[in-house]
Amino acid sequence: MKYLLLAFFISFEAQAFLLLFRNPPRYPDEISIRVGDSDCPNAGLTAAQLRDFVQRSVDDYWNSVSTSRVKFKLGASISIPASSTTSQMVALAANGEIVVGCSDDAATFPEASTLAKGGMTGTAPRGVVAINDTAATRFDDVDELARVSTFAHELGHAIGIGHSNIEYSLMYYSVVAGVVNEFLTEDDADAITYLYPNDKELGGLAGACGSIDLDGGNGGPGNFLLTLCFGFMLIVLAQKSASFRQR
Ligand SMILES: [Zn+2]
Repeated sequence: MKYLLLAFFISFEAQAFLLLFRNPPRYPDEISIRVGDSDCPNAGLTAAQLRDFVQRSVDDYWNSVSTSRVKFKLGASISIPASSTTSQMVALAANGEIVVGCSDDAATFPEASTLAKGGMTGTAPRGVVAINDTAATRFDDVDELARVSTFAHELGHAIGIGHSNIEYSLMYYSVVAGVVNEFLTEDDADAITYLYPNDKELGGLAGACGSIDLDGGNGGPGNFLLTLCFGFMLIVLAQKSASFRQR
């Protein structure tokens, strides 16, 4: 499980998006999302609503990127103990699956303002999205669109996409209060297309992605953002502002 904690970020000059790993394990072209079958009482979600939000987050965001060949599909629901950590949740996933559910584990969510966490293992295509369901969670305070986009943001982490420095992108993270990123941007599409190019759609242009130097030739080790190695931060750092929109 060590790799789960070893998320490091690579920055590229050509693109603003980051990856959680140098070369994230790739999922099959159809990713199965296993949604928890329990209500999330503190987050204000019934099991049915949880499933609905996840479905909307894939329909409205990642599955809409035509230049990416990968598609998210909801599979059979799954039983997830409420007190699960992200490591315990990802252990429930088979290869090619992402487990999505709620956690009321205080060690997983020490900050009420952390809405959710998402990430993947570094050794196999298995991912997790955990919604903060602790008693103090603020998840139930954000509006519906912010909830859907939170799922979409964390699902991006669950396939190995890190944060973007493009301020309006879905995958943006900032400590600035009041930033709500509820739209998929070209930068987000570039990230998933980089990992899963749809050669038919790209018509050979996928080669353009090859210009990205995975070995850090544009700056070497200096490109590694060590300050972002917060273990399984993949995710949401605590946001202490009043708007709780950071994920
Ligand atoms: Zn994030």
